[in-house]
Formats: sequence, structure tokens, C-alpha cells
Amino acid sequence: MPSKAEHVSDEKIARAIRENGLEGRRLYLPQMPYGGTYLLAAAIRSIGFDAWPVSDSDARTLELGGRMTSGDECYPQKIVLGDLLRIIEDEGRDRVAYLMPSANGPCRFGQYLHLIRTKLDELGYGDVPVISITSNDGYASIGDYSMDLVRTAWRAVLAQDILMKLLLKTRPYEREKGSTDRAYLQSLEEVGEAVSRQRVSHKERLEAILAALVRARDRFRALPADYDASRPLIGVVGEIFCRHNTFSNFDLIRVVEEQGGECWLSDIGEWVWYTDDEQRRRLTEQGRRFGKDNTVRYIKSVIMRRDEHALYGPFGEDFVGYEEPHDVREVLELSKPYLPYTGALGEMVLSSGKSIYMYEKGADGIIDISPFTCMNGIVTEAVYPKLSRDLDDMPIRVFYFDGTQGDLERDVGIFIELARTYQRRKKKVRRYPACFGG
Ligand code: SF4
Repeated sequence: MPSKAEHVSDEKIARAIRENGLEGRRLYLPQMPYGGTYLLAAAIRSIGFDAWPVSDSDARTLELGGRMTSGDECYPQKIVLGDLLRIIEDEGRDRVAYLMPSANGPCRFGQYLHLIRTKLDELGYGDVPVISITSNDGYASIGDYSMDLVRTAWRAVLAQDILMKLLLKTRPYEREKGSTDRAYLQSLEEVGEAVSRQRVSHKERLEAILAALVRARDRFRALPADYDASRPLIGVVGEIFCRHNTFSNFDLIRVVEEQGGECWLSDIGEWVWYTDDEQRRRLTEQGRRFGKDNTVRYIKSVIMRRDEHALYGPFGEDFVGYEEPHDVREVLELSKPYLPYTGALGEMVLSSGKSIYMYEKGADGIIDISPFTCMNGIVTEAVYPKLSRDLDDMPIRVFYFDGTQGDLERDVGIFIELARTYQRRKKKVRRYPACFGG
């Protein structure tokens, strides 16, 4: 028999499900990347919602998304909408709901939610719920457990970033093709189980996630691999959806690996820290530095930092040479001479700052992944020639994506050759973890 507390919890969860129109429905999330969404969905399941990532995108995604968009929308919008329509067709309109993050800001992302709702209504799917999660309402749409969810979701983001790092630093060197992907998927499953546990304290959840991550670390360490320091390290920056959604970028990272490179992908945690810092900066500018909002933000950031240290703790040796900045302000300050963060906003600032950061760490080239027509890629492309000159002519290139692609292998192959040339004459020394045998 459930305890009184559990009974009350069940009541609250049932009410939140009812109020959001989710009874009998599964809540789907866009892939960004698959592993990150898998763990974020696990975090949402921890508070009682039946949440999962959408299945892998395919040609129908583009066809359905294309049918309902005019071309003015950005490419991620087409994929997100196409996947939702595909899921509705496959699973049935009565069994599906969609979770779409939202935000205010200068880019088209803030319009996604409204566009999706409008298009669904036009198609007669007015009954399919589209739930938004936004910090603007304190995440009120997800009910009484919003703050619990925010903390669990942050741990899911950290775990995703750690597993992604392990995957990308190991896969190019694996002896048995496919072994790293298998280790990654098994690790995702185990970490997901720890993230999704219901009715556990934050401390118990942290311990369970940490234990699953340590098992993942040991699994990756044990994979037979031939590490080779001559393989160029390519930093990957750019628009957050497109750089993480492997369907939208034709799995560019895998292409880089096949062409002889290794990738260091800018992580999701960076974006979370950036939004936190933006909030701090704006409150300070408004003279509210010592007000309640900034105090709450500060306390939250201290807790976030504590979780980050706890989860990254066991990976010190593994991530030698791949260390993330201690504070996102490091990246913002690096970007300042090119794109001052007080004027320019969003990924363009992070992409230029992170390119410099990765250069300092000994990267051999930078790839910026951008949806075609996205202002982030357009602005950074204008800045990169000067940036490259200032960074000893390190190769930097924007790859645009819109669902059609020329010869990606050829273009990446040429880029890797440029990176190899730079690698031979670069001034920055790259540090390697012990697995490279140095
Ligand atoms: S960053 Fe660019 S591609 Fe992404 S949502 Fe904004 S406008 Fe669209």
C-alpha cells in the first residue's frame, strides 16, 4: 500500500497529467541529440509523465515538415514539425503529445511553439497537446514538481555531455567497428534508468547517476582501441539544434571520423550556463543585482555547479585535453574582440569564443554547423576569416544544412587535409589523456 506522501504525490501527478490533457498519451520530445533527449525524457518520467524521444527522423520527416512550411522557417523547425506529424500518423492522434521548449529572444526559436500549434490546428489536430516548457513561467506547465524536474533535468544534461565526450573521444580509435556505439547505448540505458527513478531523494538520484556514469567510464576505458595522436582534433560549434541533431547535419561528426578526424563537440551544458549568465547580466544592468531574482539565480547556480563537480569528478583523467571552461564567461570574454556578448547574443558568441578556446587547447580546425539562412552561421561566417588569421590561420569552416547536400565526404575530406597541414605547424600544444600512451 502506498504511503500517505506517495498517495499525495500520485494525486498531484495525476492532476498535472489531467490538466495538460495527457491522459493516455505519450509525451514526445525532439531529438537534440538522441542521447540528450533520451536522458531528458528520463528526467520527465521521474515526475510521472510518460516521456520519450521521437523515433529517428527519415524522408517522411522532410516531406511532412516541408508540406506544412513555406521556406521562411528555419530548417530545425521543418524537422521538428515533420517529426511530430510523422509520430501522429504512426501512433495515432489520441496517443500522442509533444513537448516543445520555448524561449524569448531575437531568433525564430521563440516562434516554433506557436507555429506548431497553428499548423496542427489547420490540419484538424487541435486535440493533440503541445506542452511548452519555459523558464518564463517558472516551468509552471509541468505542475508541482517543476523545481525537482529542473534539477533532475540539469543532471541529465550533464550526464549526456559526459557520455557524448566519452563516445567522441573513443569512437575514432575503436578496433571493432560499432563497439563504441554499443557501449554508448548501454550506458545511456543505465544512466537513463538512474535518472528516471521516481520517489527518490536528490541525494539518492545523484548517487545512482554517478554509479551508472562510473560503470560507463570503465566500459569505455575497456574498449579495445588504437589511439593515435596524429589524428587531427576538430572542434565542432554552431547552432545548437543542428549541431546535435544527427539527421539534420547528415551525421557530420561521423563523416569527420571516417575522413580521419576526431571531434570535440560543444556541449549542451554550455548553453545552460550561458542563459544563466545572461540572466545575471540583465538583472545587473537593470539595477537588480541584489534583488530576489538574482539571489534565487545565484543559489540555483551554486547547486548546479555542485552537481557538475560531482558528476564530472570521476572523469579527470579521461578528459585531459578536453577540459571545458570553468566558467562560460571565459568563452564570452574570448569572443569579445570579435562579437561582444553585450551586443551580439546567442550561439554566434559562443561559437566564436569556443573556437578560440579550442584553439588554445590544441585543436586542429573548427567546423561550425549551421542551418541554411540562420543568422548565427551568417554572422560567424563573416567573423571567421579574421578569427582564423588571428589564430595562426587555423582552418575554420561553416557547413550549412537545409536537407539537401552536395558531396559532404569530399568537402569534409578537403577540410581534414587543411587541418592536417595546420597540425604540422601549429604553435599550441595539445594535451592527451593517458590512453594515448604519452
Ligand atoms: S538559431 Fe537559427 S536555426 Fe536555430 S532556431 Fe534560431 S533562427 Fe532558427
